[in-house]
Amino acid sequence: MIDNKNLKSRALKVNKEIYKNNLSILNFGNASVIDKNRSKIYIKASGIGEDKCKLSNIVEVKIHNFKSQNHYKIKPSVDTIIHIELYRHLKNVGCIIHSHSEFSTILSQANIEPKCFGTTHADYFNGPIPISTKIVKVDNEKYEFQVAKSIIQRLKKYKENVPGILLRDHGVFAWGKNEAEAIHNLIAIEYICKLYFKTKMIVKNPKISKSLKSFHFFRKNGKGKYYGQNN
Ligand SMILES: [Zn+2]
Repeated sequence: MIDNKNLKSRALKVNKEIYKNNLSILNFGNASVIDKNRSKIYIKASGIGEDKCKLSNIVEVKIHNFKSQNHYKIKPSVDTIIHIELYRHLKNVGCIIHSHSEFSTILSQANIEPKCFGTTHADYFNGPIPISTKIVKVDNEKYEFQVAKSIIQRLKKYKENVPGILLRDHGVFAWGKNEAEAIHNLIAIEYICKLYFKTKMIVKNPKISKSLKSFHFFRKNGKGKYYGQNN
């Protein structure tokens, strides 16, 4: 779990990592970190692109009394409520990232839940990459709550914990216990979406056996996981 030191500069660093890894363009995307007591988050200010993002563009937001971004001198990201609601649902998560990375966004716009075609995918998801539920009619007053709900509804139906989700018609969210894990998961999801897209171009319905898929997932994620180092 994340410690309380330098949370603002850590939030700045992870926001820059989105662009360093070519996971978004312009000012699409944002990242946040949460403090140890899970009472405050640090998130990029609204409408700031990577080139202009400085420490003063990271906004501290108190979770319990957050009403609207208009109460802030420097407005936090328009997606702040989505981050807050996700932290409430994902109790072990210390960092959340949202981006419009290319292949994840293509599949989210196509309203596709990419099925598992190979072990790269199975290392992260024991099933499809989930996609949030459809928003048909926007609630003008509570749009961001509605988005958060559309994500959480889908997560509740998924059997295992997942490292991220496609945001339908929009982009992608990824998370982790800290910034490194969240960026790692965002890179992995983008890569898996790219593999899915390109595999689909040459084979209509590729199949991985259920046994191989589950073996890979649980080798890396199950109780008896043995992939990687112990610490
Ligand atoms: Zn977005």
